[in-house]
Amino acid sequence: MSHRCNSLRIIDNLAEITSHHDRQVLEKSLLKTLNELFPGQSMRLFRVRHHQRQDDQEVTLLAFCVNDVIVSSDENPSLNQESVWLHEIMSDAVKQGGIQVRQAEDGSNHIAYPAFDSHGDIFAVLVHHCQQQPDSASQRLIHGILRVYANYLALIDKSQRDKLTNLYNRETLDEQITKILVKQSDDLNKLSVSAVDSRRRHYAVRYWLGLVDIDNFKRINDTYGHLFGDEVLILVARLMTSGAIRDDDLIFRYGGEEFVVLLKAAQESDAQQAFERLRRIVSAHVFPQIDGVTVSIGFVEVADQVSPADVLGQADDALYYAKQQGRDQVHNYQQLVTGGKIAIPPPVNNDSSLELF
Ligand code: GH3
Ligand code: MG
Ligand code: MG
Repeated sequence: MSHRCNSLRIIDNLAEITSHHDRQVLEKSLLKTLNELFPGQSMRLFRVRHHQRQDDQEVTLLAFCVNDVIVSSDENPSLNQESVWLHEIMSDAVKQGGIQVRQAEDGSNHIAYPAFDSHGDIFAVLVHHCQQQPDSASQRLIHGILRVYANYLALIDKSQRDKLTNLYNRETLDEQITKILVKQSDDLNKLSVSAVDSRRRHYAVRYWLGLVDIDNFKRINDTYGHLFGDEVLILVARLMTSGAIRDDDLIFRYGGEEFVVLLKAAQESDAQQAFERLRRIVSAHVFPQIDGVTVSIGFVEVADQVSPADVLGQADDALYYAKQQGRDQVHNYQQLVTGGKIAIPPPVNNDSSLELF
């Protein structure tokens, strides 16, 4: 193939990669591009997370391309187990901060390329498996495409975050809830009619949404000033992020002094514990100058609601109850309804002649 033709293909692929805003789609698009340029060769993209305390890193498979088939690891979680040497080569790439080449016993080659985030930290490693070691131009090409991907991802990430707290912003929240609702509804559709009764047990993964609201925050603002209030918001955001929650749980700034936490938990009691833990972490923290800060939390399972607004509305009902009961507590929407503590709103009747204006 001529040089120009090859360059055009690369440009087309870069345009394709940067046309997506969804991380998973972006990852698959990256692998599709690499696969087109290096057909028949396997590529795996791993996410790297650093554990500050253990001076160690955890790698998880994000997406891979084997035999020209591109799969996002969400669609095939069983492939998460990787061999020891693969960990080694990735670990070397992370430590050295550069491309690593290893020859396997059968003479084939593995090349690991690190990808850097905007702080210069490695957040992902691409592992390329091929018979012949690629020449340096090919290595540079792969490295360059990975850089475009990383830069673009950093840009998306920035646009999804709240400036004050660096948590995800509200716009991203609706998308995430919708994704979960679609996923759960797909899960249910796979069930036979007879199984629908006990449907809640049949989701592959259960998700819970908690609405977290700082108690009496206006008083903090009024007493110490708005700037001080901002500092408290940053601290509470940090408390929720660090240690409070598992790595893949998502935290959003929902509004002024309100946050949303989306987490996975197999059981209602696990979710309750996770939110309780959050509440405790905030109330146990010693804030400079002030007596203490507490939060109230209302949570609900993201299951078969019809829209993100419904999910948030239910969590808000539970939050309202927590506030009424004296604040600094956690309540579960479903339990409040079952216990008759709050009423389910009557279904909207489309036939009724409502007078709106
Ligand atoms: P409750 O326990 O019922 O939640 O009481 P509250 O005082 O926390 O609730 P309220 O809704 O009455 O007040 C929220 C306050 O949060 C009012 C507003 O001035 C403040 N606020 C909203 N956004 C920001 C922000 O970005 N920075 C600061 N410092 N304050 C904010
Ligand atoms: Mg509020
Ligand atoms: Mg409040």
